[in-house]
This record gives sequence, structure tokens and C-alpha cells, in this order.
Amino acid sequence: MNILILGGTAEARDLAERLVALGHAVTTSLAGRTQAPLLPPGAVRIGGFGGVAGLAAALRAGAVDWLVDATHPYAGQISLNAVAASRETGVPLLRILRPAWTPADGANWTHVETTSEAAACLPPGARVLLTTGHAGLEQFLERRDCQFVVRLIETPAMAIPAHARLLQSRPPYGLADEIALMDGERITHLVTKNSGGGQTAAKLDAAMRLGVKVIMIARPVYGPAIEVDSVDAAVTRLSEAG
Ligand code: NAP
Repeated sequence: MNILILGGTAEARDLAERLVALGHAVTTSLAGRTQAPLLPPGAVRIGGFGGVAGLAAALRAGAVDWLVDATHPYAGQISLNAVAASRETGVPLLRILRPAWTPADGANWTHVETTSEAAACLPPGARVLLTTGHAGLEQFLERRDCQFVVRLIETPAMAIPAHARLLQSRPPYGLADEIALMDGERITHLVTKNSGGGQTAAKLDAAMRLGVKVIMIARPVYGPAIEVDSVDAAVTRLSEAG
């Protein structure tokens, strides 16, 4: 089959590898945000499609049999575009969505809907580990009455002000390192999206052990698709279809 994977995640790379090995014609699409991205096997295209119309045109031009949304759970716009383009073209949409994290007994989580709500609920004097990525960064850094450690993979476009420290690193992160970071920085609050998966989950365990409060930003709503929660399940579903 001819399969277009919307990628940018470890799951998308795994899936491409598995589907290529099974003999499918696979193209992975990347947004082009990351310098020197890890490239999956199969064909790769980089950059936006130009909205729903562009993605629909690419599905038709490529005679795509399946569109797979394997993007990050918080890549909300491309996931909405995938739903609309699938509806417009009739190309079936399979979505891989990692299970969300859930609070362990004893964890102190506050659930919020948006980054601005998360920024607003930080108490004055909070020492914050911010792991929410580039989008909405300025909303947090407007809080000059808090101190921030901003953890990002890529260099941010905006200058980091004096009440924040930039920590550039790449997952996975282990529990001992997360405890050392939060303890060393005297972190009181962890702000995070509910990404799910194992690569960045240790921060939640570390926060619970240290009594750090977690501000958890809810996942976006994506729209209808055939949904699976793992690469294995996606391979099974596509094999049944083929
Ligand atoms: P987004 O807000 O949902 O997408 C914004 C626009 O970027 C889309 O409308 C689309 O442009 C383009 N785009 C996004 N993903 C694309 C893809 N895989 N292939 C081609 N174009 C894509 O997405 P985002 O949050 O900026 O994330 C961008 C990429 O980074 C995604 O591939 C995602 O898997 C990865 N990522 C995101 C996060 C996160 O926290 N958001 C974390 C890790 C990895 P057009 O409308 O022009 O097509």
C-alpha cells in the first residue's frame, strides 16, 4: 500500500521502519522544525503542505491509500488538517495516540486547558521547570514574579530574560537526573503537557518524590479517525486493511 505518515515522533519513525520492512511504499512527512532530524526509512518530505487543501492535494497526487497521523499529541493543527483532508478525499485516516499519563497516588496535579491558564495559576515566587516547548513560552515568561528553568530541544526564537534559565537538552530523561535537576534548582512547580510515553515521564515521578506541584495542560481535541494507541496496533490495523 501507499502510506503517508505525518511524523515528527519516535512512533512515526518506528512505524515507517516496520511498514517499509513489510514492503509498503511509505512517505514520512516532517514539519521541518528540527535541525538535522532523525530520518526514517522510506521517502521523506519536509515542510508544511499549505493547510487542508495542500494536504488533500498531496493525498490525491500521491495516490495515497492510508494517511497515518503519528504526530505528537500536541501537534493539534496538523491533526485537525488530517481529519479534514481525509474527509475531503476519502483516504482513510489512522491516528496513533499514545495513552495519556495519569497521576499516581499521592501526586499533586492541577489540570488546566491552556498555556495561558497554566501561566496564570502559578503563585508569585514559584520556581518553575517549564517543559511545554516553544509555543506559548512568552506567556510564561511574562510572569516576572516567578523564576523559570526552560527546558527545550531547539534554541528559542525569543531572548530568554533574566528571571529564566535556558536548559537545552534532548530526551530521554531518567529519574535520577530529573530529581537532581529539580532539587538543585529548588523547583516548586513543574509545568508540562500530557505527552504520554516513556521518554519524558520520569519528571512526574521526580516531582511526586520531591513534593513539586504539577500543572498539567490538557491535550487538544483532534476529531474523528481510526485510533490506536501503539505502533504495534497501527501495523496490525494496516495489515488487516491490506
Ligand atoms: P501543528 O501546530 O499541529 O502544525 C502547524 C503546521 O505545521 C501545520 O498546519 C502544518 O502546516 C505543519 N506541520 C505540522 N506537522 C507537520 C508534518 N508532520 N508534516 C508536514 N507539515 C506539518 O504542529 P507543531 O506542534 O508545530 O508540531 C510540528 C511537528 O513537530 C509535528 O510533526 C509534531 O509531530 C512534532 N512535535 C511536536 C511537539 C509538540 O509538543 N507540539 C513535540 C514533539 C514533536 P501546513 O498547514 O502548511 O500543512
